[in-house]
Amino acid sequence: MEEAKQDFLQEKIYSELRRIFGFTQFKGYQKEVIEDLLSGKNVMVIMPTGGGKSLCYQLPAMLMEGLAIVISPLIALMKNQVDAIRQMQGEKSVAHFLNSSLGKHESTKVKNDVLSGKTKMLYIAPESLMKPENTEFLKQVKLSFVAIDEAHCISEWGHDFRPEYRRIREMVNNIGQDIPIIALTATATEKVRNDILKNLNIEDAQLYIASFNRPNLYYEVRPKPDDEKLLIKEIIRFIKNNEHKSGIIYCLARKKVEEVAQILNLNGIKAMPYHAGLDAKQRAVTQDKFLMEDIDVICATIAFGMGIDKPDVRYVIHYDMPKSLEGYYQETGRAGRDGGEGKCIAFYAEKDMNKLERFLVNKTLTEREVAIQLMESATSYAESSVCRRTTLLTYFGEEYKEVSCGNCDNCLHPKKRVEASEDILAVLEVVEQTKQMFKAESIVNILIGNASADIKTCRYHKLDLFGYGKDKSKLHWKAVVRQCIIEGFIKKDIESFGLLKLLPKAETYREHPYEILVPEDHDFENPDSFDDVEMVAPGSAGSGADDTLFAILKDIRKSIANKEKLAPNIIFEERSLVDMTIQYPTSLEKMSKIIGVGEAKAKRYGQQFCDAIKQYVEDNDIIPPEQLIVKSNQSSATGIKTYIIKSIDKKIDFADIAKGKNMDMEELLDSIERIISFGNKLDISYYVNQVVEEDHREEILECFKELETDDVATVLEELGEDEYTEEEVRLMRIVFISKYGQ
Ligand SMILES: [Zn+2]
Repeated sequence: MEEAKQDFLQEKIYSELRRIFGFTQFKGYQKEVIEDLLSGKNVMVIMPTGGGKSLCYQLPAMLMEGLAIVISPLIALMKNQVDAIRQMQGEKSVAHFLNSSLGKHESTKVKNDVLSGKTKMLYIAPESLMKPENTEFLKQVKLSFVAIDEAHCISEWGHDFRPEYRRIREMVNNIGQDIPIIALTATATEKVRNDILKNLNIEDAQLYIASFNRPNLYYEVRPKPDDEKLLIKEIIRFIKNNEHKSGIIYCLARKKVEEVAQILNLNGIKAMPYHAGLDAKQRAVTQDKFLMEDIDVICATIAFGMGIDKPDVRYVIHYDMPKSLEGYYQETGRAGRDGGEGKCIAFYAEKDMNKLERFLVNKTLTEREVAIQLMESATSYAESSVCRRTTLLTYFGEEYKEVSCGNCDNCLHPKKRVEASEDILAVLEVVEQTKQMFKAESIVNILIGNASADIKTCRYHKLDLFGYGKDKSKLHWKAVVRQCIIEGFIKKDIESFGLLKLLPKAETYREHPYEILVPEDHDFENPDSFDDVEMVAPGSAGSGADDTLFAILKDIRKSIANKEKLAPNIIFEERSLVDMTIQYPTSLEKMSKIIGVGEAKAKRYGQQFCDAIKQYVEDNDIIPPEQLIVKSNQSSATGIKTYIIKSIDKKIDFADIAKGKNMDMEELLDSIERIISFGNKLDISYYVNQVVEEDHREEILECFKELETDDVATVLEELGEDEYTEEEVRLMRIVFISKYGQ
């Protein structure tokens, strides 16, 4: 009995996921979270931006009896989410928001819908929830649960504290229904996390912490030229190479934001400034234009971002290095939220950081020390030549075990590594002799023999090791200190504002030293030494298969968006468009099976897209792939197809492609043959030229042409099996078909 009920629930979860959200699978912990919430448990979810947080409460809200209250801090954010749900469900009354922007008439309409039971989700700001008339109203309604988005606003230790958020528990108690609470946030240190649980009185909550790794983001730090004209030129070149894509440029100062936006416009790039000094109305207009893709670029201070929900931002440029690694992570996190391409380029100059430090003179000593600590994390990230992803994840307390992430500048262009066990021992020695009372900078100064004031005061310029490493650069010694931290020999003590402290592992190493290689840091003071001035980010993840069709579909989306006054990604997400260019759906039924589409949306917007695809398919003689009948296999089959096409685009070795999906060569060739049988053309010459000898290649191609066949067995028979292998012939058949078409 119980089991049958479980099965039924499982089926229901998946069918709603498919019908409303257009997905066949859950991401990360989504399913566990949903099941916990459905069974009445309190839950806390920490998931980075783009991890699929909102689905964790939207899907249960649709499945459960009653109304879910969603508490959210920003009106813009609410409106966006409500629009999105309405589009997916094809029903306006399914979600509403209740806030000060509504008139009397509108809020009556909302309340009527809620009372009639049509509404499943009510978005509300804590300020509105506090109003007695709203509490009284909600008492009359059967509620399913309370979801608290941006829950870090609860904690005074969070970077975004909102006092009203601390009263949510009290307000929920006032409504007087015993319902579960789900709290969600994208950033929370342990301290903030505990604060949230305590304040909401849900210390029993199931905790889900997703990984902070965003594999689709590409990280790169470039030296910032002294001459700003050169910098602007470099940025313009980058934007022009990424035409028609959406991007954000972050600057620290408002004046700079205005200046950069202006210069971009003079150079034919549609850009607008955004900062806290502009009035609210102007900011809303700018934000809308960005969402509607009337402009491509927003130049912004950190004021921009929290309210924005644009999943297809393709690049984030940091004109200045941010003041902390938290800020950097959050700002770069706005790129590629749909899992597609997201290039994150930061420009770094040491003198910028020094300038920032000088601004701190008016702060209290503690504030200043905390700020310097945070800045140091950003500097260290920029200068280091260790994998960027490793540095970021280590900073957030997450272990990252890959040797190379393959998607950051340091992994793609590794720096030379030098053996440094002697130097490591010297660093540890100096840390000990200075009684663990110095920061990294002073330790380095002692080693290179620079007698700064603090060193002289303690008479450490008399130490044996003073000047020990003067024949090596300051840069080298900074890298060695950093390596000692990565190896776990020393740590930067946060409580004492960054003094270096020895860890037990240091003692073991000093007794039994072994070889350790240290990558040389980037020399940002001497940017000419940069190996690669024109670094190019790896292949764009956004380009699925058919760029021409993609552009056509994007135009249609834009015109519908303009007509409906909705953001384009609310009509269809970019990955849905990409999937359409792979699946070529020509009927509404097929359209509803596209990733992220679902039935309601297919009905609402699909026809125009189907018509265009039909026309395109006819004009170009494309045979669309058959829709796969086995339901559960669909997404994986599509996934493998996209994976193979993309891998071949990137010229990856076939053995590696096969290994990536646990296939053998036979299965890979089967899949490729299926792909080209649907009319796709694949250029595999990079691989074939390596594995098939030139004269064989020519012979086999000739044979296919002369025999006017594409049958492998026939050709193999003609050529003779002793000399030619079946694999060779199959490979050349793929080349033949891709070259001469069907
Ligand atoms: Zn890396």
